[in-house]
Amino acid sequence: MVELISFDRTQRMRRAWLGLAAWWAAAAATVFIPVAHFFLVPGFFAFGIYSFLQRARTAVVAVAVSGICPDCEAEQKFEAPARWSESVTLACANCGRSLRLTAPQPAV
Ligand SMILES: [Zn+2]
Repeated sequence: MVELISFDRTQRMRRAWLGLAAWWAAAAATVFIPVAHFFLVPGFFAFGIYSFLQRARTAVVAVAVSGICPDCEAEQKFEAPARWSESVTLACANCGRSLRLTAPQPAV
């Protein structure tokens, strides 16, 4: 079973701005940490921009992926990839087998 959330353009931009605001707030909060602020402030600032661009382009996100491994028959929840595509490669936590999961992209 795959549970997906799709975002239209307005929702993607809102999500992107919220992500940018969160990372830049973290950058502002770390200004007062001695020495570490030399790394944390530019790091959070740059990651905020990266996060904004990623979220602005991500139309579909998988929130839950679960199923039964065809090899060892263990039922499990898989770690969902950040951005969903039609074909995703996952690994079984029980036997380590590589599993390819295919699902059509929902209409946005
Ligand atoms: Zn398995």
